[in-house]
Amino acid sequence: MTVITRFAPSPTGTLHVGNLRTALHNWLFAKAHGGRFLLRIDDTDTARSEERFVAAIRADLAWMGLNPDSETRQSARFDRYEARFAELIAAGRVYPAYETAQELELKRKVLLGRGLPPIYDRAALALGDADRARLEAGGVQPHWRFRLDASGIEWDDLVRGAQRFDPATMSDPVVRRADGSWLYLLPSVIDDIDMGVSHVVRGEDHVSNTASQLQMFAALGAEPPRFAHEALLTGNEGKLSKRLGSLGVEHFRDAGIESQALAALLGRLGTSDPVEPFTDSAPLIAGFDFARFGRAPARFDEAELAALNAKIVHQLEFGAVRARLPEGMTAAAWEVIRPNLSTIAEAGDWWSVIEGPVTAAIAEEDRAFLDEAAKAAAGIDWSAEPWAQLTGALKEATGRKGRTLFLPLRLALTGRDHGPDMAALLPLIGKDRALERLARAA
Ligand code: GLU
Repeated sequence: MTVITRFAPSPTGTLHVGNLRTALHNWLFAKAHGGRFLLRIDDTDTARSEERFVAAIRADLAWMGLNPDSETRQSARFDRYEARFAELIAAGRVYPAYETAQELELKRKVLLGRGLPPIYDRAALALGDADRARLEAGGVQPHWRFRLDASGIEWDDLVRGAQRFDPATMSDPVVRRADGSWLYLLPSVIDDIDMGVSHVVRGEDHVSNTASQLQMFAALGAEPPRFAHEALLTGNEGKLSKRLGSLGVEHFRDAGIESQALAALLGRLGTSDPVEPFTDSAPLIAGFDFARFGRAPARFDEAELAALNAKIVHQLEFGAVRARLPEGMTAAAWEVIRPNLSTIAEAGDWWSVIEGPVTAAIAEEDRAFLDEAAKAAAGIDWSAEPWAQLTGALKEATGRKGRTLFLPLRLALTGRDHGPDMAALLPLIGKDRALERLARAA
């Protein structure tokens, strides 16, 4: 069997972290099985779908490195839905219903008031041709429901295990509105059949949709795909959080998060495997298995992402980041600065420390010492470990050691009290700038 997965966002907004995770898992599963990953734009809701969101979805997936093997959109397939819909009407699996929203709401309230589940009573099925003709002559356009049959619904979910639904506890789902527009359920099934989707990977908020959709696959004469319904992400506070819904690629990029960090976290979050700072997707692909996913909600923690990001930045090669570094910054400088970074953008700060000018707040009692340092720096051989020579000479001349020896030098040379290893940094600052900075601090 060829594995075919699909990511099916509605272009009514930008992708949030939960969507990105779903996309990633679809991609990882396809890659792990030598399969194909499709992007399906679910734009049946023409009023709320926007082209700018389609473009943003593509761009976000590209940023994540999740390139689809092909792309389709539902708005290009209305003829196909119409044809299959006609088959379902002919087979008696789809029927017109005429209740208004208010009438349906009233029916719900009555049932709930009697302590009964608010299941649609199928009153529309009892209408005869004459009733329908009368309603339609009176200007009522029907919406359309899929008639569930009584057979039990079961599937073996790749994450949740054995699932069972009793259709008697479910309302016949509305599949098409009175204005002719499609709800998501049926077009999705038609697409999954036509595109040979083998695995539907999505959030557990779709579990009850799957119950209806399984009957739609059967009614359309198709074998259903396998399903994997993943536990949703929660925020730091352990609840489904509004904030997560607003965190998308733009936010992460602005915060200096690398796509690898997001993939490394989202690839493993909610599984029994440890989150590791992978700079490449290969180990994520190799270990990807729905059996390793838990059923409890997974907690998405931005602090964990930031820490993971730093570990990834520390591994990135100059060639991979060059275009995002300040003009003129060298590979040698990158190597020295890299261990101090949380984000690549911070490289600019350290590059300006190397390039100067720097300003340092020097304590009075260090001035004489730094005067000594300026003289010593003029006398050492700058081609061979200048920091060891400079500190060695000053230790001997002044008796200072440890912090009192190193800190004033670091301050004078970089303007900061912390930073990259001075032995590596000093050659990059170089003799001329070092002499000038020491003299100015003295
Ligand atoms: N457009 C649906 C959504 O965004 C797709 C769900 C699915 O994967 O089937 O929820």
